Amino acid sequence: MPDRPDESPTDPPAPAPAERRLASDQDVEDADDVLFSHPPRVVRRWLCECGVDYPCAEVRFALLVKSSAEAGE
Ligand SMILES: [Zn+2]
Repeated sequence: MPDRPDESPTDPPAPAPAERRLASDQDVEDADDVLFSHPPRVVRRWLCECGVDYPCAEVRFALLVKSSAEAGE
């Protein structure tokens, strides 16, 4: 198990299980290299209360309204 921060939102996607062993020793070695140089990263995302990425369309529109109202003062 690799170390990861406690607040990580989701586990990385699990790899599809291999149906049968097709890989040669060289393939396995290459796979190790790939896995070593491509560790998973936890990306923290801003989520809106309404459940989509922040800012959602409504927030963007509200911010636009507010910025144009302030520009008009
Ligand atoms: Zn929203």
